[in-house]
Amino acid sequence: MIFSKEKTTLAYTIEKCPKCEKLHKRDFSEGDILFTISSKCTFCDGITTIEKIFGEILER
Ligand SMILES: [Zn+2]
Repeated sequence: MIFSKEKTTLAYTIEKCPKCEKLHKRDFSEGDILFTISSKCTFCDGITTIEKIFGEILER
């Protein structure tokens, strides 16, 4: 893998609550794996799972 100092990659994790179907976007943290249990839903008493992980490249 080649890293350029000119670009910064930001990774995000999308969590989804199966109970109320709310989506929550947060910064990716190491150890996040797709479709695993993530954290407690902030809207109901459900447990969110990781729905999507994506990265954005910032050029500057
Ligand atoms: Zn919920």
